[in-house]
Amino acid sequence: MTASDFLNVWEEGLDRLPYERALAILESACPELSREQVRELSIGQRDGLLLALQASTFGPELTALSTCPRCRTAVEVAVEVAQLKQAATLSSLSGTESTAIIVRDGREFQVRRPNSSDLAAADGMEPEQAASKILARCVTSEGVRVDATKLSAETVEQLTEKMAALDPQAECVLEVACAACESSWLERLDIVAFLWSELDAWAKRTLREVHALASAYGWTETEVLSLSASRRQVYLAMVNT
Ligand SMILES: [Zn+2]
Repeated sequence: MTASDFLNVWEEGLDRLPYERALAILESACPELSREQVRELSIGQRDGLLLALQASTFGPELTALSTCPRCRTAVEVAVEVAQLKQAATLSSLSGTESTAIIVRDGREFQVRRPNSSDLAAADGMEPEQAASKILARCVTSEGVRVDATKLSAETVEQLTEKMAALDPQAECVLEVACAACESSWLERLDIVAFLWSELDAWAKRTLREVHALASAYGWTETEVLSLSASRRQVYLAMVNT
């Protein structure tokens, strides 16, 4: 993706929900996939691709923030993106098992992995209602979608666990330790929010650079953005002296 592509995606995503931002980023980053194919990536596949994009754009290591649950110290945790991602290339997307059969109480359920269309269908719902909606869309029995509210709690739990097991990349967890009190805990990494915050900071920094160079040299935004990052930095250094 070029600097212009990133700025367009950033602008498009400003007033959007997280799942829509993720779709906008991937539609731009993966032109070989149609809009429909991007929406049908499982959440784990989506997050695997976003992790790969995070690494190729902002570097192989990411630094997340957490707060110690015991002493409330703010803790930074640095981790190699390669340790977090599994299904991160387009060619690996088709090779993973995407559905499973579960038999419970004499009934057979077919389970598939949730995707962005499922998140869109649950948009605006309370968490519990959203979970039921997503389950109902991802589980069928004898070819018909199930009504999650009519299943026992144990069945819902088992079906939910199976959906998660089919899509392990959807749950990205960091091990964090506190140097102050020696506690350790697990922190969930929300790659959509993380990548968006990196993109947001980058976009604002880049627009400031465009402003400085356009003001100094009379170049257009397109002309400034077409400079390589290193050339842009050299000109900025000259403008700032
Ligand atoms: Zn602590």
